[in-house]
Amino acid sequence: MKPLILIVEDESALVTMLRYNLERDGYRIVEARDGEEALMVVREERPDLVLLDWMLPLMSGLEVCRQLRRRTETRDVPIIILTARGEELDKVRGLDAGADDYITKPFSPTELMARIRAVMRRSAPSLTNEALTFEDLFMDLVAHRVRRGERDVHLGPTEFRLLRHLMQYPGRVFSREQLLDAVWGRDVYVEPRTVDVHIRRLRKALNGHSEPDLIRTVRSAGYAIDRPAF
Ligand code: CA
Repeated sequence: MKPLILIVEDESALVTMLRYNLERDGYRIVEARDGEEALMVVREERPDLVLLDWMLPLMSGLEVCRQLRRRTETRDVPIIILTARGEELDKVRGLDAGADDYITKPFSPTELMARIRAVMRRSAPSLTNEALTFEDLFMDLVAHRVRRGERDVHLGPTEFRLLRHLMQYPGRVFSREQLLDAVWGRDVYVEPRTVDVHIRRLRKALNGHSEPDLIRTVRSAGYAIDRPAF
């Protein structure tokens, strides 16, 4: 079945343009004009990806993003934020709210399509029937679940891929650029700082109950998953 994309946008002209380009690329489309409607639609339609405008009436796109991440059924759905804001700080706020990517208006349809394909590819479920373990971490690659000890760890899709990559090579230090290539893909331009944002989120989820930190920051080099230093 064709992937379903939810467009959350209040500007009719932009919705028309997006619908035209996405349908031409083989996607099915469902629309919402504001955040409340978006939260209702996701419950019934289960989209494969959400294009979410930041500036929406009533509830901001950022708040919609946070709410989607809080719900079990939409926790893993890829979200791309559309925004007229181009500030670096805004980008970080968008990613902190749980978005997978961020695109600044005006954008070309070609650029958007490339981002959508990249985000979809990254979130495609792994077909291996394996699990990864490290110390008290357990990652089920089929069920997409992570446990630390007896506790379930809830991760966004980007954090999941980041952790999977680190857990595949325990002890090995990866630079931000290497992580960008492995986790985000080579064809997407993402600033290296984005890696720090997602590492911070990953740490928070993994160490949320004051467990020892399994992620090692190697100053001016990058990150590794490693035995905690005592
Ligand atoms: Ca808008």
